[in-house]
Amino acid sequence: MSERSMPHDAASWACPHGQDARRGCVACYQESVDPDPALSCWEVAAWFTTERPVPIRTLQDVHHHGRRFALDQPSTPLVYLLTGHARARGSVQAVAGVIGFLLHNRHVVASFTVTEIRSTSQSAAGASTTRQTDVWVRGA
Ligand SMILES: [Zn+2]
Repeated sequence: MSERSMPHDAASWACPHGQDARRGCVACYQESVDPDPALSCWEVAAWFTTERPVPIRTLQDVHHHGRRFALDQPSTPLVYLLTGHARARGSVQAVAGVIGFLLHNRHVVASFTVTEIRSTSQSAAGASTTRQTDVWVRGA
């Protein structure tokens, strides 16, 4: 299956732990903390909405907790952009690990709904593959 395809069924988004990558996976996040350096590096961007505003200070603090992560508010109220880097076996696991950061840090965002995801491989060869979805996924 091509990495460029945009699967919409839950099975194709299942991480190695059986979680839907678009909702995040704490186990994938924890694996990405101490990754196998042989794995390729992925850059993941995930847009999500929250029911309550995230304080500016909390947004800024994310840089201190997760050195590989950044949380920004692009423009629209209650819409946020999480970007992160993860070494993973594939884009699904990379997405699960980066969104898993939010699950692992519930004090940052208590509940969220992922609206769009982009995952780009940054392999040493310079090849780039992007996987994207615009499917709305209900957060936990
Ligand atoms: Zn997982």
